[in-house]
Amino acid sequence: MELMYLSTRDAGVKVSASQAVLKGLADDGGLFVPERIPKLDVSLADIAKMSYQRTAYEVMKLFFTDFTKEELEGCIQAAYDEKFDCQEIARLTKPGEEWFLELFHGATIAFKDMALSILPHLLITAAKKNQVKNEIVILTATSGDTGKAALSGFADVKGTKIVVFYPKNGVSPIQEKQMVTQKGANTHVVGIHGNFDQAQTGVKRMFADKELEKELDGKGYQFSSANSINIGRLVPQIVYYVYAYTRLLAQGAILEGEEINFVVPTGNFGNILAAYYAKRMGVPVHKLICASNENKVLYDFFETGRYDKNREFILTSSPSMDILISSNLERLIYHISGNDAKKNAELMKRLSKDGAYEITSDMKKELADFCGGYASEQETAQAIRDYYEKYNYVFDTHTAVAASVYQKYKKRTKDDTKTVIVSTASPFKFTRSVMDAIAPKSADKPDFELADELSRISGVKIPQAIESIRTAPTLHDTVCEVEKMPEEVMRFLDR
Ligand SMILES: *Cc1c(COP(=O)(O)O)cnc(C)c1O
Repeated sequence: MELMYLSTRDAGVKVSASQAVLKGLADDGGLFVPERIPKLDVSLADIAKMSYQRTAYEVMKLFFTDFTKEELEGCIQAAYDEKFDCQEIARLTKPGEEWFLELFHGATIAFKDMALSILPHLLITAAKKNQVKNEIVILTATSGDTGKAALSGFADVKGTKIVVFYPKNGVSPIQEKQMVTQKGANTHVVGIHGNFDQAQTGVKRMFADKELEKELDGKGYQFSSANSINIGRLVPQIVYYVYAYTRLLAQGAILEGEEINFVVPTGNFGNILAAYYAKRMGVPVHKLICASNENKVLYDFFETGRYDKNREFILTSSPSMDILISSNLERLIYHISGNDAKKNAELMKRLSKDGAYEITSDMKKELADFCGGYASEQETAQAIRDYYEKYNYVFDTHTAVAASVYQKYKKRTKDDTKTVIVSTASPFKFTRSVMDAIAPKSADKPDFELADELSRISGVKIPQAIESIRTAPTLHDTVCEVEKMPEEVMRFLDR
């Protein structure tokens, strides 16, 4: 039976999976959600014998029901190949008592690759299925990692163009270098004078702009989104939760049916929402631990039921989590309201008007699957140091936020459920902060020397993604004001 997608803000909207992938965002500004969350129709014990790619198929076929088997398998094969530097695609390691699920073995060494390596193929397939004649223009706002992963996924993909906006002073030097050295005539990278939320708001405004849409259509273009609000990003992320659980099962580390915890370093709430979907599909999960940095708007929300973005925006050492509006939370709000689009639309209106909303006590009860936590900058650095000294295992700052939150959670709750910490970036992507934590004396060296030093002390080879930008020339140097974002897009398309 075909699974349809609804808007979180309007119960009257109903589209197919391929249309939801194509549109990214519903016309009313809502996010697409499946009308029901499907259950896995293969046992976890059977999935434990499957490769990552087969597992991906078993999960995705339940969501992308208007794709044929051949189409879906084609997308999966094109995405999860030698671009990844390990055969498992997502690797589980156990340096100490808990597991780390390393999601950074793709082309840009951050977890965004898990979804963005497949999204272009889903999108192109969806366009064909819906007789789209226009060229697809991907607009993306990034706090660092999405941008490069999207650029790398879409570069030179026929029938697509991609424009990435990033906060000029809000990403790491290596993140910036990765983006501005991007090859491909269909790519455009723009730094903005503003923070990530402003970039994201600017992009959302362009998506909602009917005039702009008409103008584009006249030129043979239409917008689509690669941001984590696209259902084509969310669904591929469910896969690695199913995969992680079934690997533990295959290793005999857990019994079938045994619940585990996942700790997820969270920004836009996409990654952890995928974990929630995995749970609802049948993966035995005890707690989903939502880890924030000092921008702890989600922690406060889980504690109080009040979401309030009216606060100082803090630049931290985990920039991909420096977010005050977690877009994907809207899907959770919709689900815990009993799939009530009207109720959700009301709360989102309040968010855009007052910057805050409060959920009802009934909705709050539905949040029992989650537990929020946050780590200060100091605690984040301490976690990096601790694991390095204790286990000679080095992780990045985002993963460190999760590790720190988990240490505190365990101490406080005495919960000894087996736990997987989601590791979202290679330490080589945030070398300076990582080295600052473990070897402060060397941390004033240039970036690439620091990477060499990190490689030496951790015994981990420098990833290809870093090696290849070491000497690469800058190909993008556009910077603009937030208000000029639409003009910048048109300038690129007209050129
Ligand atoms: C994007 C990102 C996150 C946050 O993921 P969300 O899905 O936005 O919650 C965490 N860590 C890294 C390294 C990221 O790139």
